[in-house]
Amino acid sequence: MKVGVLGLQGAFRRHLDALTRLGVTAVEVRTPAALSGIDALVIPGGESTTMSMLLTSSQLFEPLAERLEAGMPAFGTCAGMILLATGVSDGRTDQRSFGVLDIDVRRNAFGRQVDSFERDLPVAGLDDGPLHAVFIRAPVVERAGPAVEVLARVDEGPVIVRQGVALATAFHPELTDDLRLHALFLERVG
Ligand code: GLN
Repeated sequence: MKVGVLGLQGAFRRHLDALTRLGVTAVEVRTPAALSGIDALVIPGGESTTMSMLLTSSQLFEPLAERLEAGMPAFGTCAGMILLATGVSDGRTDQRSFGVLDIDVRRNAFGRQVDSFERDLPVAGLDDGPLHAVFIRAPVVERAGPAVEVLARVDEGPVIVRQGVALATAFHPELTDDLRLHALFLERVG
């Protein structure tokens, strides 16, 4: 199994480590050619506005959209969640997203006072204790469609969502040593 991590910008290195620790081959994806060999893709945190621009300038956006539409599994974290969403508020007007998750998100919506915070989250389907979640200028999920499973939430809304082979978190699971969400993602790959 070969899993790509979008490596245009942002917090992609620790995702490569997490995947490698779970025994899969993990590769950075920066070019359209790198897409052809992968079975699934992680879209990391960072800045979704910048990633959107770089996806366009690197000519990755269209071929990646085609792979996602054809059912390639994807795991988006923070900015990656924004890129998988259907609706994005408080972004740039030219910001693009792939729309493989039927959710609407608002960027940086946890409020100026709490740019970053941490929570222990109970997660549906993970029985061995709560997951420690690190939120950094995270998006709030303002709407989740009927096909979307909410695996964890906070007062402001859902923070782990899944729809078929697409999984997303509003926080950064790669910043802790807990590999359970990456493992959950890999269950639906291949
Ligand atoms: N605020 C960022 C964005 O809108 C996301 C932050 C993150 O990925 N940690 O893209």
